[in-house]
Amino acid sequence: VRKSKETGKAEAYETRALDRARAQFAMETALRRAIDAEQLTLHYQPVCDLATGKIVAFEALARWTTEDGKIISPADFISVAEETGLIVPIGRWAIDGALRTLAEWDALAGGSCDVQMAVNISPIQLQRDHLPPVVEAALARHGLAGGRLKLELTESALIADPDRNAAMLRALKDTGASIAMDDFGTGYSNLAYLQRLPIDILKIDRSFVTDMMADRDKIAIVRAILSLAATLNMDTIAEGIESRDVSQTLAALGCTFGQGYAFSPPLPADDAYQLLLRCNS
Ligand code: C2E
Ligand code: MG
Ligand code: MG
Ligand code: MG
Repeated sequence: VRKSKETGKAEAYETRALDRARAQFAMETALRRAIDAEQLTLHYQPVCDLATGKIVAFEALARWTTEDGKIISPADFISVAEETGLIVPIGRWAIDGALRTLAEWDALAGGSCDVQMAVNISPIQLQRDHLPPVVEAALARHGLAGGRLKLELTESALIADPDRNAAMLRALKDTGASIAMDDFGTGYSNLAYLQRLPIDILKIDRSFVTDMMADRDKIAIVRAILSLAATLNMDTIAEGIESRDVSQTLAALGCTFGQGYAFSPPLPADDAYQLLLRCNS
């Protein structure tokens, strides 16, 4: 029997949708197992003071190492975690793990190792979990002051449900943590709204930073974000700095902090601590 062209298309579409659903389900199952088998780890990337090169903070970034040693990027599993709700336990695990590492570094340093720790918070986690007590408990568990923790949120997390989010951010800030807006410039922040939120730091998205020297528009956007941040009394961190040139230009433009391969890629905890000793002593 010959199928019409249209029926064929519809069937092909259904097959693809089914394949996607199967792949998603396989990924979800594997991710659940990974959490139980402790195959998730955190790597740490330094945030540097652009004027001095000293490390002021580390950002904790999740990594998934599968049984066969393959490393899966958070870009590939965070979205599955969000769709399945697994982001709530993963998010709690990340806060706890990052603070545990920071407390270990303090112990090694025989006092405060003098850096902050930044943890990414998914918009879904912000909606579904009641984070303030989670943060508070993790700080207490590891004997850390709230000021040591930075929480990174994206614009999309904050745009939906502004009233609830403003209240949530205030409750999070009451723990002593500071709030950074991640990937700034890629979302649709309404500036009046931005001003009403208790945000301490704007992180300039790497799409404007990495090859900014070759693109006047990008330099103009970076300038505009820096001036906005200054007006709103916020600090700035440029993401994705891959060269000395870019780092120096950003410093000259008035950007305070930076992060990127030019300084260091994300590293396992031990290597990150060694880097801290080398850079800051
Ligand atoms: P992000 O928070 O914007 O993190 C920065 C990303 O840029 C990281 O990718 C980092 O490895 C990468 N990066 C750093 N420096 C450079 C550079 O110089 N050049 C380039 N091209 N890239 C650079 P990664 O680790 O793959 O993480 C991707 C995203 O996944 C993160 O973006 C964050 O949104 C999310 N993510 C990672 N860990 C977690 C987590 O524990 N929880 C949640 N909710 N999200 C996470
Ligand atoms: Mg981040
Ligand atoms: Mg970012
Ligand atoms: Mg980014």
